[in-house]
Amino acid sequence: MERQVVHVESHLLNPPRQSGTKRRSPQKPFAARCVSELGGNTSNHGHRSKTPRRGIRSAKEPSKRKNMADNTIIAWTDHTFNPWMGCTKVSAGCAHCYAETMSTNLMGKGIWGPNAPREITKGPWKNVKSWEKAAATGTPGLLNNGRHLVFTGSMMDHAEDRPDLVEPRARMWQTIRECPHLWFQLLTKRPENIVRFLPEDWGQGYDNVWLGTSIEDMRVAERADHLRGIPAPVRFISYEPALGPLNDLDLAGIDWVICGGESGSGYREMDLQWARDMREKCEDAGIAFFFKQSAAKKTETGIELDGEIVRNFPNPRLSGTVPMMMVK
Ligand code: SF4
Repeated sequence: MERQVVHVESHLLNPPRQSGTKRRSPQKPFAARCVSELGGNTSNHGHRSKTPRRGIRSAKEPSKRKNMADNTIIAWTDHTFNPWMGCTKVSAGCAHCYAETMSTNLMGKGIWGPNAPREITKGPWKNVKSWEKAAATGTPGLLNNGRHLVFTGSMMDHAEDRPDLVEPRARMWQTIRECPHLWFQLLTKRPENIVRFLPEDWGQGYDNVWLGTSIEDMRVAERADHLRGIPAPVRFISYEPALGPLNDLDLAGIDWVICGGESGSGYREMDLQWARDMREKCEDAGIAFFFKQSAAKKTETGIELDGEIVRNFPNPRLSGTVPMMMVK
């Protein structure tokens, strides 16, 4: 089924914060609104086409998000959905996990580590249904040509292997099936578990689910191997916080790369050349590249890459089994 596209300009409250690959005056980052939810970083690359390649869509993003459904400052999604909260650190990218800091210091919860319980949430499940209702009735998302993006797991890892997560994970999949007008972005640092935890009717993938893994440096590059063979409309890599070059990373089977330096107190520096190189790798391979920000204390700092905002989204491979959002 052909998906209709809505232009988000009419929903902007201010001039667009970005437009795919857009050249801007090289200074001011957009205002940080809160604690960083994910890292970011900057890089640049002198000469490149402003026209996205086939299979890649640019997105316009508002400078403010007043959409009723918005609940996140993460630049590459509209919403966050956490079926549960809590996790265990698995690699260097987890060292400054904002979710652990937030849950421990701000929420006073003891839900991190292998021996701590996970907390099954309540409200977020209702939020998802409200976003689905809004999407189904024509309220567009703000980033992705009108289709609402839902980052599933900003305070947890959907592929964590624990007996107490079997039931909530089954509920998560059921909720995803019940929300065909949303696009769920499932990101994990445990991609070796993804296949085991997919629902039985996954087949060639749900049209409304993107699968991703985080790769902060080449020490965990094998995560891409676990991901690239799994059928999905979009397979993506989160290269944030970028902690080292990924020049030797095999991007075969990957549709989208999000690149960003770490943010928050004690952030680790990144070399902008890493982002430039990844941008070039993506361009050479026809892969959508999204540059989030430089390494910085505040999120959304240094979002330009050599004076350009480069925030592209992929075009999902769809089977047509899930109804597409129809927006006039
Ligand atoms: S996998 Fe993600 S949520 Fe879990 S500790 Fe690492 S960074 Fe935090």
